[in-house]
Amino acid sequence: MVRAMLIMAVASMIPFTSKAGQGGGKSAEDAGWAVQRQAMVAQLKVYHITNTCVLMAMGRIRRHVFIPATYRDVNNAYADAPCPIGCGQTISQPYIVAYMTEKLAIKPGDKVLEIGTGSGYQAAVLAECGADVYTIEIIPELARHARAALDAEGYRRVHILTSDGYKGWPEYSPFDAIIVTCAPDEVPRSLVDQLKEGGCLIVPVGRGSQRLVILRKQRGQVEQEEDLPVRFVPMVRE
Ligand code: SAH
Repeated sequence: MVRAMLIMAVASMIPFTSKAGQGGGKSAEDAGWAVQRQAMVAQLKVYHITNTCVLMAMGRIRRHVFIPATYRDVNNAYADAPCPIGCGQTISQPYIVAYMTEKLAIKPGDKVLEIGTGSGYQAAVLAECGADVYTIEIIPELARHARAALDAEGYRRVHILTSDGYKGWPEYSPFDAIIVTCAPDEVPRSLVDQLKEGGCLIVPVGRGSQRLVILRKQRGQVEQEEDLPVRFVPMVRE
């Protein structure tokens, strides 16, 4: 009952316009996904995600489109759990996507680097928050899938590079924010170098036991704090 009320409250606050609406169809299937999407947003609020831009973005984006059809079903695309996307990789659980994006405090027009494009979903969340997104994926098949999903959903401000993220993307640096969605053993120096003064980098660090590390560059100094324990796929080398 409480859950049903929560879903209704959120559904009335978040309009059903947007990319979700442009995806065509407006079929019963789309409406079913939309209900689940609003339930996901309600759950994020229960978990204390408060950034309006992040909540609006995740309320709009058709997450199920980013998950390849083989792995997508009505029960898991919007569940608060990671989900396979093929090639042994996973899309992060919605809470972690929301939490990391909230920490970055993206402003419209920010230039953001993502390492680990995967499905393209995190990149879409950043783009919905107004960022110009530069995202790097090491597995060509995943980069192709993400490109197709982002194009189909109308995200023109996401640029994808098939490469090894350890190199970053120097041509477009420095970045206002950098988000790494695979886990290196330590914070890659090259990425710290590509972060703008005043910028924020968030990265899961460690093998086996991992922690989110949040790093800020201020007045030429690098401040680093350890945050939540997490579990990400490893950041591999070329
Ligand atoms: N952000 C993604 C989830 C990423 S899963 C999403 O929203 O779906 C982690 C991804 O990091 C995988 O796709 C994996 O192939 C990629 N990856 C691992 N090592 C990498 C590296 N060195 N450079 C770029 N991508 C890498």
